[in-house]
Amino acid sequence: MDKILVIDDSAVQAEYLRSILKEEYDVTVCNTAREGLAAAKEGCFGLILLDIVMPDMDGFILLRELKETDLTKHIPVIMLTSLSDVQYEERGLLMGAVDYVAKPFSPVIIRARVNTHIQLYHYQMEFKQQAMVDELTGVANRRRYEGESLSKWREAIRFGMPLSICMFDIDKFKLYNDTFGHPAGDQVISAVAKTASSYFQRSMDLFARYGGEEFIAVFVGSDGHNAFEFLKTIRQAVEDLHIPHCSPVSQWVTVSVGGVSLIPKVGDSYDTYLKLADTMLYDAKRLGRNRVVWSYEGKEQWFEKE
Ligand code: GH3
Ligand code: MG
Ligand code: MG
Repeated sequence: MDKILVIDDSAVQAEYLRSILKEEYDVTVCNTAREGLAAAKEGCFGLILLDIVMPDMDGFILLRELKETDLTKHIPVIMLTSLSDVQYEERGLLMGAVDYVAKPFSPVIIRARVNTHIQLYHYQMEFKQQAMVDELTGVANRRRYEGESLSKWREAIRFGMPLSICMFDIDKFKLYNDTFGHPAGDQVISAVAKTASSYFQRSMDLFARYGGEEFIAVFVGSDGHNAFEFLKTIRQAVEDLHIPHCSPVSQWVTVSVGGVSLIPKVGDSYDTYLKLADTMLYDAKRLGRNRVVWSYEGKEQWFEKE
């Protein structure tokens, strides 16, 4: 059931709205603007019904706060106005409200407008979701990676936490395509993505298709040694899928992995370490593929299968 937040200082009006909508929606009521703002930040609301005239905070100020706050700016807001307040409607719509409903409320109009905006919200969320997902594999796409990697980097700096950047590349994949065909190759990319991404399910983990048969992971919290061991497990899990290949590396499909762990500091550059991860991947390829090569802060280098 979609969640709707009603913010109205009149308890009577708010309860009336709840009674109109409660059959179809999970309605939360707040009778002050301040409470409403706090609730909007915490709950996952699909719509806010906002009274414009309230004693503790003008509804417009609250509307501006909602539209300027990352956690709430995407939530559609319908203003609740009196029939006489045409200039309020104009102002609210210009400030980003999606619609208004005039008091006294007509239950039919309220339901119709709410249904429409909830539906639009669903489409919008679905569209946003799709724009961030790689179509073939269902993991995050390059766009999402570009949008999120730097925020992970900044968070690691802020909390003084170790961060790892890791690149995966399927071994001898051109040969796979040439031998088994492109559609079979697509299935391999999906299978590798499914297996590797299943190890990156914490809320702070990012695993994305970087391009072609390459993936990238950015994750915080593991020190260098743990990250190296973790990636060896994942590399092995891909080999253990036992997808037949005919490469000089193995009878199975395998991946080479290169990565770096560090505790980033203000002034460090993400790109420097991304390049280092890529150099580690290149070393893994050069040394025979189907292995992990890891760098600790660019100072030490660890090799699987020495
Ligand atoms: P290496 O072990 O050095 O990585 O060798 P490789 O053959 O994997 O490397 P190369 O970069 O020469 O080839 C990558 C191949 O991946 C070439 C391309 O046809 C294939 N590829 C890239 N994207 C896709 C895709 O979406 N589907 C399929 N089936 N193949 C893809
Ligand atoms: Mg490649
Ligand atoms: Mg490859």
